[in-house]
Amino acid sequence: MKKKIAVLPGDGIGTEVMEQALKVLNKIQEQYNIEFEYNHALVGGAAWADYQCHLPKSTLKTCQEADAILFGSVGGPVAEQHIEKWKGVEVNSLLGLRKAFNLYANLRPAKLYPSLAFASSLRKDISDKGFDLLVVRELTGGIYFGQPKGREGSGDEEYAFDTMKYSRMEVKRIAEVAFEAARKRNKKVHSIDKANVLTTMVFWREVVEEVAKNYPDVKYIPMYVDNAAMQLTSNPQQFDVMLCGNMFGDILSDEAGALTGSLGMLPSASLAEGSFGMYEPGGGSAPDIAGQNIANPIAQILSAAMMLKYSFNLTEAAEKIEKAVEKTLSDGFRTSDICQKNSKPISTIEMGAKIIENL
Ligand code: NAD
Repeated sequence: MKKKIAVLPGDGIGTEVMEQALKVLNKIQEQYNIEFEYNHALVGGAAWADYQCHLPKSTLKTCQEADAILFGSVGGPVAEQHIEKWKGVEVNSLLGLRKAFNLYANLRPAKLYPSLAFASSLRKDISDKGFDLLVVRELTGGIYFGQPKGREGSGDEEYAFDTMKYSRMEVKRIAEVAFEAARKRNKKVHSIDKANVLTTMVFWREVVEEVAKNYPDVKYIPMYVDNAAMQLTSNPQQFDVMLCGNMFGDILSDEAGALTGSLGMLPSASLAEGSFGMYEPGGGSAPDIAGQNIANPIAQILSAAMMLKYSFNLTEAAEKIEKAVEKTLSDGFRTSDICQKNSKPISTIEMGAKIIENL
């Protein structure tokens, strides 16, 4: 089997962590009957010098010809005179790609490894147990995009409004992503809504319930969003897959991510219909640590593992990478972002090498 990957390292630490992820994929290539063709393309600030835009047409073309996109991160000016032109780099590059490929499903796993419990903001008796959940967020609909939205009137009479709107098709397809993902995990879906207040969410719940009937092997539990936000901090172990609309998913996935300790640990996937997807770490280009060989490559490596699972259906290879990461952490190896005081961190390159050793 041959798969074409559009490789978009982007800016800052993007290039450093991407290098490690590609080394991991090369090792997987040796171990499984698969061939990866990497097609590199520029995005973000890295594209500016050559193309004077953040998402050049040639990059889009490389992505169109690929089976999946492996994205690093974008942001942070390379030169002071470019600051103005850099404004919105993240918005231009990421939203441009989401729109071009209709990436409607955002998957953000949040896993607290017991060996990293100290890095979590949770109380020790809760964090010591670790947790492993996946937020499935609808990414192209809901209140962020619903029309009409705007401002009218003036003075004290001025008001602003947004529209929360979901179609049956939109809810059905994101619910199916959540239930399919649960089948590859621990077979439980919490659907997060606000059906006690919002009509859109009453509808959301009805449609999710219909979808749930097609997955009798997956446990379905509806939960109000305010309760879910609370439960995440008191008993995160109860969750496997959390299915959310755009806004609730935006908030809860950040909350869940924060509980795991470091941005450097958080992978993500944005999926289109079919098997196409874009895979990227949760963090940005981290200009404060770029070029120092100290960034944590785990989020990028786990993003590559998600690509194997969701775009290439190579679940076993993906789980092998996840286990190699877990073993490396439980052996005590840490980059500086997840290192306890008085311990010695290892570099980006060393972390990549340790993970490959454990593959
Ligand atoms: P950031 O995520 O780049 O950094 C926030 C903090 O987390 C920094 O202290 C950074 O050193 C740390 N961090 C992030 N990833 C890390 C890793 N892998 N290993 C170790 N530490 C890590 O967010 P920011 O500083 O707010 O933004 C910097 C630039 O990145 C901005 O231009 C912003 O627009 C952009 N950004 C891009 C994306 C993306 O490409 N998806 C996401 C967020 C921010």
